[in-house]
Amino acid sequence: MEIDYDKLGLKVGLEIHQQLDTSAKLFCKCKPELFKEEPEITFLRKLRPTQSELGQIDPAAYFEFQKGVKILYEANKATSCLVEMDEEPPHPLNMEAVEIALTVALMIKAKPVDEIHVMRKTVIDGSNTTGFQRTCVVALNGVMKVGEKTVPIQHVSLEEDAARKMGEEEDNIIRYRIDRLGIPLVEIATAPVINSPKEAGEIALAIGTILRATGKVKRGLGTIRQDINISIPNGALIEIKGLQELELLPLVVEYEVQRQLNLIKISEELKKGGVKGDEINEEFFDVTDVFKQTKCKVIRKALDKNQQVLAVRLPKFKGFLKRELMPNFRLGTEMADRARFWGKVGGIFHTDELPAYGITAEEIEELRKATEAKEQDAIVFVANTPENSKDALEAVIERAREAIKGVPEETRAPNPDGTTRYMRPRPGAARMYPETDIPPTQITEDYTKRASLLLPELPEQKLERLTKDYGLNQKLTKQILDSEYSELFETIIKESEVSPITVAAFLTETLRALKRDGIQVDNVSEKQIREIFKHVSTGELTKEAISEVVGWLSKHEGKNIQEAISNLGLKILSEEDLMKIVDDIVGNNKKIVEERGMEAFGSLMSLVMKEVRGRANPALVSELIRKKLKQVS
Ligand SMILES: [Zn+2]
Repeated sequence: MEIDYDKLGLKVGLEIHQQLDTSAKLFCKCKPELFKEEPEITFLRKLRPTQSELGQIDPAAYFEFQKGVKILYEANKATSCLVEMDEEPPHPLNMEAVEIALTVALMIKAKPVDEIHVMRKTVIDGSNTTGFQRTCVVALNGVMKVGEKTVPIQHVSLEEDAARKMGEEEDNIIRYRIDRLGIPLVEIATAPVINSPKEAGEIALAIGTILRATGKVKRGLGTIRQDINISIPNGALIEIKGLQELELLPLVVEYEVQRQLNLIKISEELKKGGVKGDEINEEFFDVTDVFKQTKCKVIRKALDKNQQVLAVRLPKFKGFLKRELMPNFRLGTEMADRARFWGKVGGIFHTDELPAYGITAEEIEELRKATEAKEQDAIVFVANTPENSKDALEAVIERAREAIKGVPEETRAPNPDGTTRYMRPRPGAARMYPETDIPPTQITEDYTKRASLLLPELPEQKLERLTKDYGLNQKLTKQILDSEYSELFETIIKESEVSPITVAAFLTETLRALKRDGIQVDNVSEKQIREIFKHVSTGELTKEAISEVVGWLSKHEGKNIQEAISNLGLKILSEEDLMKIVDDIVGNNKKIVEERGMEAFGSLMSLVMKEVRGRANPALVSELIRKKLKQVS
């Protein structure tokens, strides 16, 4: 679908959350790090709906409370204390984090507040042991210039990161690990002035560059996360939460626009077809008997557990459930997501996609009779416990009624392919109230003045300096700046003799290509990358073998470069050993050498390189072949 974004009236606002590289967490002295081992401590809590002072209860939280959802928290002693467990009040605000946030604020010309007040923001999914997240505004009303565009920044805030979800068990138990809880995050929120997917990507990149310029932010997957607010005329305000892959941002925006446009179209057609919301009855049909002999494995499994098949009729919806909203994502998929969330079912079946999955045309015929469905009706059914099935189908009915109206407001989560899925209903407003355990922090003019004298180099200054100092072209320099590695780049240049172009190309193009090939580049530390270039510098490793070493290290965490080199057989050949190989290959190709003399060089070079790639410097190979050719011809 070709979309004219100028005409469309798309409005996007970004909230970027970046973990800070401080020595302690935001409200205690624990290490702001994640652990991989088994937890030393676990504790179980019941999820309870927390009320804001205005007494509003979030519907999703209340629903989960009714279901008796419990949270199993995991911790170890190095990364959590009684503060994270909500057994002890928070300590005063970490001033190292305040300083970094202030630096960011001043770089984008935001005005620091006189006093920082920590607030509580209701959190409803168990990701905070307290039931709220602590957050505080550090500065207001900044501005960024990105290309020709002026982007107002609404605020720069500090927040505590939430616990991370580890999985869901049977019996309504969700596992969270609280190592991440309390890691300081700086949040930058733009005004909703972004008008195209491409622009969203550029602005996010520019914000990332500013954050990294402080030299005090964490790196790697999961350390920066973006919330995206998207709306189009006649659509709805959709919040997409927690996108980690910056490169996906333009695509996520593009797909969301597609989804809303398609939902608007579907709504118009449903209305034209005379479909009305109150015609969709909450009438559930027990159709277990229809599937008594079924070959469908999912239904069979449910029936073996004595569960039932429950169906609902959607009048005049035939054909609409298979309508594509985004690539491989249909209106039926939206209904399935809702059913999964509210009904805890694995998925739904609907007549737009049947016969399939072992369900026969005869069974569908029976199903139509049992539900008294007319030709143009769609039927949705699930196989589960009576309670779950009913919750799931109620959610499907609600989603169907919303489809008549247009685009429902909701919070969505990104999928790896750039599409999104239903996460929760949008929480109501007024979810902030003051944190009474922490006194306000003054930001004096003096303090701000001192901070403004210590501001790091701005990205545009750095661009100019890198281009000049290292003789790189603008494009490569820009790529280095946009990547996470501009500091690493300069460190490597300082401590090795490798040419700046080689280092820059590796840190941008090569790493990107490796990631694309599915290599977990983040497993290789910056220290290891520096070691690799030191080895190249001393001639212990060839430039050509760098990728291979990175690939090996990514799969063997805790191992070092020497081990990579010996395991990959990349030990550099001595000149003597190399000469022997050249001798052999020239000897085996006498005929070519006799016929073509010096012109045989090209073929010989590729034969030798095939043999010694990664173990010899190509310049030396070339020299030895030429020497040999001169001797024999
Ligand atoms: Zn702690």
